[in-house]
Amino acid sequence: MKRSTSISSSHSSNQDCCRICFVEGDAKHPFVSPCLCAGTMRYVHQSCLQKWTKFSKNESCELCKFKFIRKNKPFLKWERLGVSRKENLVVIGLIVAHVLSLSYVIWRVNDNLIQLPEVLKLSKIVWSL
Ligand SMILES: [Zn+2]
Ligand SMILES: [Zn+2]
Repeated sequence: MKRSTSISSSHSSNQDCCRICFVEGDAKHPFVSPCLCAGTMRYVHQSCLQKWTKFSKNESCELCKFKFIRKNKPFLKWERLGVSRKENLVVIGLIVAHVLSLSYVIWRVNDNLIQLPEVLKLSKIVWSL
């Protein structure tokens, strides 16, 4: 008695795929058909559609020119998940701190206040911060 469930993948060519990432839909990544396109171009993951409209700054279908209908909640959620300015500021602050510490070390070297091995030790401490 053999079960043929594992062979079912041979039918995958007939399955509907997302027109952006070409992956099949599942419970976690449900398909939407946001425009008037039919057939293989009909389905797209909701998450892919959101990313695409954000990236291309185009909210209508390239093929049928149908304007995608925004579903407010997921879109707002996605906006918040985008690049946050706070994180950027933290990164910039860290880089500035490193540059300042290193220029301080270099200044000390120019002043002949510390020796080169001393500098290497210091810079190691700076970069491990
Ligand atoms: Zn997709
Ligand atoms: Zn379309």
